[in-house]
Amino acid sequence: MTDETEAELTGATARRRPKASVDKIGGRELKPSTMMMGHGYDPVLSEGSLKPPIFLTSTFVFPNAAAGKRHFEGVTGKRPGGADGLVYSRFNGPNQEILEDRLGIWEGAEDALAFSSGMSAIATLFLSMVKPGDTIVHSGPLYAATETLIARILGRFGVHWLDFPAGATRPEIDAVLNRAASGNVALIYLESPANPTNALVDVEAVAASRDAIFKGAKPPIAIDNTFLGPLWAQPLKQGADIVVYSLTKYAGGHSDLVAGGVLGSKEHINTIRLMRNTIGTICDPHTAWMLLRSLETLELRMSRAGENAVKVCEFLRTHPKVEHVGYLGFLEEGSRQADIYNRHCTGAGSTFSLYLKGGEKEAFAFLDSLKIAKLAVSLGGTETLASHPAGMTHLSVPEARKQALGITDNLVRISIGVEDADDLIADFEEALQAV
Ligand SMILES: *Cc1c(COP(=O)(O)O)cnc(C)c1O
Repeated sequence: MTDETEAELTGATARRRPKASVDKIGGRELKPSTMMMGHGYDPVLSEGSLKPPIFLTSTFVFPNAAAGKRHFEGVTGKRPGGADGLVYSRFNGPNQEILEDRLGIWEGAEDALAFSSGMSAIATLFLSMVKPGDTIVHSGPLYAATETLIARILGRFGVHWLDFPAGATRPEIDAVLNRAASGNVALIYLESPANPTNALVDVEAVAASRDAIFKGAKPPIAIDNTFLGPLWAQPLKQGADIVVYSLTKYAGGHSDLVAGGVLGSKEHINTIRLMRNTIGTICDPHTAWMLLRSLETLELRMSRAGENAVKVCEFLRTHPKVEHVGYLGFLEEGSRQADIYNRHCTGAGSTFSLYLKGGEKEAFAFLDSLKIAKLAVSLGGTETLASHPAGMTHLSVPEARKQALGITDNLVRISIGVEDADDLIADFEEALQAV
């Protein structure tokens, strides 16, 4: 004990105590884009550092033995309320906690978890919810690795699946859920828009169907919101219970990291957290820090990419060498897909399908002539990317299924970035001349 007076001590403590995060000013609820700059972190905690430092540590020191015991009582369920503070970096760390607080804000979710990849998020979700003999009902198609995980990997552990097409109507969804309901449905898993068809799932219809068919315990509805979230689609509002992200895409947004996220109610998140704590699928502190940086510009980046995509697609749709542009902004007025779009989406995104006149030769000539757009898989980055699904991401898909999904040799997938729209149009115009 030093010889500080009590007044000095109180003053020092008062100065050092972190402030609660502000989420309202007057009656006004702050918007996510504002809250991304400071929510969940007070510089007072870290020598005044404006940005949170990266906490490279594998373990955290307990203030005393009783606190250590209290923590493990929480973790093991001997005491309600869960973990008390940080203890070991496989469970959580300061950077990941700030990231999780901020992620949840975008969709008004009660809680969120960060993961080392989109696939580790999805795998951890599945492992926490299913057991042998259960059925997963899902929309189709799904991201290829997700389909592999359900059919080939969980299948080895006796988990069954049934699917309905992404654009299915209420009666079609009812038929599949009724069939599945003869067994134990552990989870309803959706992906909207589906890749690469861009077909939207009617989440409201799925939720209504689930509520009508399952009278007792209702299987949760999880949805992969990577393509439109969190800016253009927020499926918790349409009745989904859990939202899954590959944060590698728009949320990370700079094509320089791989990560995943899951959002939902405290109850569901705690179930998934228990599995993540066990198998260690949390993202590392450096990736979490990078994502905090990314979230500060998420709305700026996604808005700009969305505006660019409108301009580029308007140019492409009337070009004589283009057969069709599969873009959510061009849905046929009055169609079922347009109806779902109007109820579920606030923007058409910046990832779309370009069908050229011709086949692989024309598609390759186009891709090889691009100068600004880079030839790479993935999406949602600051830079524009283009790829050839039939020859790349979907090469191993059987021919009949490729045709059914519209994965033809003349298809090019494009993800528009935040470059100057007219520069992008010039790039596409010149590449089309080479076709
Ligand atoms: C990329 C992607 C995933 C997988 O995410 P990773 O971060 O690559 O593991 C899952 N779903 C969708 C829709 C994706 O685009």
